[in-house]
Amino acid sequence: MARMNYIAGNWKMNLLPEMAVELTELIKSQLVPKPNQEIVLFPQTGLIPLISQVLLDSTIQLGAQNTSDQLSGAYTGENSPELLKALRCSYCLIGHSERRQYFSESDEFIARKAEVLTSLKITPIICIGESLEEREKEIHLEKITNQIKAIYQRLEPDVWSGLVFAYEPIWAIGTGKTATADQADEIHKFIRSEIGRLGNEFVASQTSILYGGSAKPSNAKELLSREDIDGLLVGGASLNADDFLNIIESC
Ligand code: PEP
Repeated sequence: MARMNYIAGNWKMNLLPEMAVELTELIKSQLVPKPNQEIVLFPQTGLIPLISQVLLDSTIQLGAQNTSDQLSGAYTGENSPELLKALRCSYCLIGHSERRQYFSESDEFIARKAEVLTSLKITPIICIGESLEEREKEIHLEKITNQIKAIYQRLEPDVWSGLVFAYEPIWAIGTGKTATADQADEIHKFIRSEIGRLGNEFVASQTSILYGGSAKPSNAKELLSREDIDGLLVGGASLNADDFLNIIESC
């Protein structure tokens, strides 16, 4: 069975309602659906009900940028995954480096979020990756292993096949500095082998691993040509319809 290919647009904390609807309409009207390809938009939380309406008659999937690790209840200011489900989010980003860095999210906390999402059949896209300092100290593989290990230690094997990973080297996010296709492919192969070791080989062969970090029209084709790169998580370039559609075309 072929792995699903993804082009996912992380809008981060950008766009007001009018522009968000306009961008979604533009992408929706020009998108030519392809088999085995999933397009997912990740608006900020307040925009989700609006974008959910715009996507009602579309193959484009909706995702959230964050979730609570609790289903619902007295957690003021948090995003209930039950609400995300009711608003038709089928994906949720977790472990984005901006959340790990600015909100001190630990590997264990992220694993709990993965658990709550899978219990609702929302697919977690689990972001992992190293900083420049960690790469220079050559501790990046250990860091990535720990990020993956926390997930397979926490989650029951019956949900392992419903996970997606995104390798996002922190030094490439929003910096304009992309990992070369060779650099990315090497780490993707490592991630797949670690999924095989910490999960199992079948799950490893079926798990989509996306690359994220300054992906743009000029480098998308090269990155996507690699066997172990199953799609792109796009930040900055997903805010421009032409660039995002161009990246989708490369897939
Ligand atoms: C991201 O934030 O997930 C990301 C990949 O951002 P950018 O494409 O802007 O580097």
